[in-house]
Amino acid sequence: MSDDIRVRIAPSPSGNLHIGTARTALFNYLYAKKMNGTFVLRIEDTDAERTKQEYIDNIFDSLKALGLNWDEGPDVGGEYGPYTQSERFDIYPKYAQMLLDKGYAYECWCTNEELEQEKEEAVKNKQAYVYSRKCLNITKEQREQYIKEGRKPAIRFKVEHKELVFNDMVKGELKFDTSLIGDFVIMKSNGTPTYNFAVVIDDMLMKISHIIRGEDHISNTPKQILIYEALGAKVPEFGHLGMILAPDRSKLSKRHGATAVSDFVKEGYLTDALINFVALLGWAPSDGQEIKTVDEIAQDFRIHEISSSNSIFEYDKLNWMNGQYIKKMDIKKLTDMIIPFLSKYDLSELSREKLERMVLITREPLTVLKDIEDDVPYFFGKNVPLDEVKELLSSELSKNVLTKFLELVNGWETDGNGDFTDEEKIHNDLADLRADFKEKFGYKPKETMWAIRAAITGRTRGADMVGILMILGKDKVLLRTKNAQKITLGV
Ligand code: GLU
Repeated sequence: MSDDIRVRIAPSPSGNLHIGTARTALFNYLYAKKMNGTFVLRIEDTDAERTKQEYIDNIFDSLKALGLNWDEGPDVGGEYGPYTQSERFDIYPKYAQMLLDKGYAYECWCTNEELEQEKEEAVKNKQAYVYSRKCLNITKEQREQYIKEGRKPAIRFKVEHKELVFNDMVKGELKFDTSLIGDFVIMKSNGTPTYNFAVVIDDMLMKISHIIRGEDHISNTPKQILIYEALGAKVPEFGHLGMILAPDRSKLSKRHGATAVSDFVKEGYLTDALINFVALLGWAPSDGQEIKTVDEIAQDFRIHEISSSNSIFEYDKLNWMNGQYIKKMDIKKLTDMIIPFLSKYDLSELSREKLERMVLITREPLTVLKDIEDDVPYFFGKNVPLDEVKELLSSELSKNVLTKFLELVNGWETDGNGDFTDEEKIHNDLADLRADFKEKFGYKPKETMWAIRAAITGRTRGADMVGILMILGKDKVLLRTKNAQKITLGV
């Protein structure tokens, strides 16, 4: 593993893992893979009020489910731990003190009220707010007075006014006028670090070489670079990814559909499809072949080729892609994944072998796994409701077809469980039936099959008919045929 390339994903556990964070994690992971580097997971839980253990668990589980395994992190450890910010609180004051000592930072004794007043003043004067530097040069006496009053200081970074330029791996050269930034707080008066400070100290100590993250962090980057410079530390490379927008070009949110990885999984998106889809938000394969595994993508991945513009999250495309993955997935694995979506059925009615066959013959039209629930009711229970096919079954055609079909079924051999044993014969007999009736009555082959399908499944469309018969077995097929005949024969 190369020691030079170290990347990280640093989620804040204030919600379940967002699909956008998953993409950021993926691009970091891909870069690490491609460069033989190290992928680090750090949990940024300094905001105690919004942090919940269930979100931390969700972040772990979702990243693992997507196959984005980290080399160092809170659970697996590593040389530069701890990897959870709340366990690092004793680290930050030391570096804040260092900045104070070197004159890169100063104590700020302003109360919230005083700061609010400054802000209001700026609004009144239609000016962008920057801190007044009121506390930059306070006297010793004043300081002692504040301490006597029981005030506790925050620590502000003293921003050097200059043009700050850096070369973003994704966006190219970016320039900032730091005089517009204002001296920002690095340690709050309660002794905890702010995001911009903690993130620099952690990235520096964890030797992160490349910071790949969403462009919503661009405005933080100059502040972070200034801190690195003040500490005399090496500034990492930055790459800011465009945002993911909803099809209506607004910010992707729950009203557009699922946004958390775990919600996509609950709806029956396969994690392989999700991660493949997410990779295409900002990156394009060189051979135009979009369906690819993460390993294949890693081979082809070049960070400088990531699009710097926003990407649209097309749910339709994701559905299509998910369908492609469902169609080619190993049937045993797919069956395992589908079982949780069949909770309303009594699965003990079907052997594992039959269940797999059911999945095999019903997977074609699925876009998400949960769709299967509505497609398979006729594989369960003895009888099926015939309301939807009453009219079809009332025809002369159905009467004739079912009379002949019943005769055939009675002739098909079964094993001790009542399952048909000669699939080929069933197949051939049905083909002959269609041909005979076409010749004799002029029925179209598909009309003949409609009648059988209607009787056996209560529907006019569905999975391969021979497969259905093999799964149901003789008793159910006879029972359902006779039941449907009550309509065809009008009894
Ligand atoms: N904790 C930050 C977030 O979840 C990430 C910080 C970063 O990547 O620098 O947005």
